[in-house]
Amino acid sequence: MKLPKDYRPAPDLLKDKIILVTGAGDGIGKVAAKTFAAHGATVVLLGRTQSKLEQVYDEIETLGGPQPAIYPFNLEGAAHKEYQDLRNVLEETFGVLHGLVHNAGELGERTPVENYSPDAWMRVMQVNLNAPFLLTQALLPLMERADNASIVFTSSGVAYQGRAFWGAYAASKAGQENFMQTLADELDEASSIRANSINPGATRTRMRATAYPAEDPTTVPTPEAHMPLYLYLLGDDSVGISGQQFQA
Ligand code: NDP
Repeated sequence: MKLPKDYRPAPDLLKDKIILVTGAGDGIGKVAAKTFAAHGATVVLLGRTQSKLEQVYDEIETLGGPQPAIYPFNLEGAAHKEYQDLRNVLEETFGVLHGLVHNAGELGERTPVENYSPDAWMRVMQVNLNAPFLLTQALLPLMERADNASIVFTSSGVAYQGRAFWGAYAASKAGQENFMQTLADELDEASSIRANSINPGATRTRMRATAYPAEDPTTVPTPEAHMPLYLYLLGDDSVGISGQQFQA
């Protein structure tokens, strides 16, 4: 699916909403966090590098958005209990969650399956697939309390069709798409929570530069270009849309 043509998000689209973004310290997640705040959301900045999260926090304060929250969290190593602790902190602080953006991702190795390091494979699966499951499961009770909460998964072109040398990354993104569909189907009748995925496509970030070192970055769209779609899916304009795969 695509963003409705001529979509214009209202300036206060996300007013009074609490939205958690994983990998909020860099790349697409950083721009999404700032964009959500600029549209009125209180953003929970989750990521593994505190200094980067602090930088985003400062930028949101400078632009006059609602005071964000920082939650340093390593999705690679976190145990089940740490997800419960996160839920408890969010429950005490906000009592509710309106949006969850599974954005953090690891590229892993770009190498044939035969050479793929098993440790690297496990790490990519943990960050890109297992962590979104654990986080979703932990936070669903807080999202049930919101009117029309939204969960967004971050996909990739290699999720739909595997490609040579994309190993665990492709498999993890395919798994994430399938998990999104399972979740959306379960929530369909039982809840007002919706779940969808976005494939950002080529985007000018550190990950893209690592995957395509020879590419001229100025030929690749910036994360800002995708923000209307992110806003659409997080705001109430997309209520009723669930289980869908969006292309940025
Ligand atoms: P970046 O590498 O720029 O940002 C990824 C973010 O995820 C960083 O903030 C990083 O933290 C965080 N992260 C990585 N591992 C962990 C971890 N173990 N725990 C917590 N946070 C972690 O990538 P992009 O912005 O490009 O990617 C964002 C999403 O978009 C990813 O899911 C990616 O797969 C997807 N995507 C990107 C495309 C592109 O062309 N850029 C194309 C298709 C999909 P830190 O800053 O501390 O390293």
